[in-house]
Amino acid sequence: MDRRKPRSPARTWLVAGFVVAGMTLPVSAAKAGTIPDNKLGWSSCLWPAGKTITVAADPAYPFPDNSYSDRLNEAIVRWDGVLRTSRRANTVVRVPDGPADVLIQYRPLEGTDTTDVLAETYLERQGDTTFTTNIGVCPDRKPAAHSMQAVQIRLAPRTDWFAGADDATANWENCGGGTFRAVNPGLCAATVDFASTLTHELGHALVFYHPQTLDEIDKIAVTQADSASAQARCVEASNEFQPQATMCSGQGQWRAEQRTLETWDIETMHRAYDQ
Ligand SMILES: [Zn+2]
Repeated sequence: MDRRKPRSPARTWLVAGFVVAGMTLPVSAAKAGTIPDNKLGWSSCLWPAGKTITVAADPAYPFPDNSYSDRLNEAIVRWDGVLRTSRRANTVVRVPDGPADVLIQYRPLEGTDTTDVLAETYLERQGDTTFTTNIGVCPDRKPAAHSMQAVQIRLAPRTDWFAGADDATANWENCGGGTFRAVNPGLCAATVDFASTLTHELGHALVFYHPQTLDEIDKIAVTQADSASAQARCVEASNEFQPQATMCSGQGQWRAEQRTLETWDIETMHRAYDQ
């Protein structure tokens, strides 16, 4: 479905069909949201209720170094922290390199002109025989209908990934200024944030849409006050990177704010996984 690009940034994904009926769910508090349901990126594909979703790095396509692996752990913890509070009570955990529900590959993307695409997520639902990038197989903003079976996330090998820890992002984000960049060529050679991309793609692995995709479907300009993109405070709507949701489609150069989940991301998760 989508591909993530640097904004000049980006991202992508894949999807995988099957109706889950009569599921019983534990009774727990569903969170009252502040954003209207039809402006949230929930879909009809969900992981089975209560399932522990395992995530592993694929040893066939290893990360360049351990910092990449550390960033993956942090991205998993961020989604797990909210997902386990959902009514379906799913969890997301890292497991040793090898088979897993969500496999992370540091691997060239499929297709040709992909130089500006950072990553791609491929989805497989129960009953599907193959992975797909077409998120349309998981209709948006519809009740749970398809159970997820597996996901692959490909992160494009690049020479300009930033994989520093959270306490290093503020200094790196200074690279957005030309003067700083001129005197810190080494630090600023890294232009796109690996951790932000991971958090975003893991959101796709939970089968969440981009706000921009909802606006496309609804034929609403992203700049309109009631657009999903405006609700998610995406840069196209807000004209600033800082507050944007991790699920906004574009990632800024020298920007790390999409490492963390914002209100739109969390309310989207609840709308989907409180079903
Ligand atoms: Zn995306």
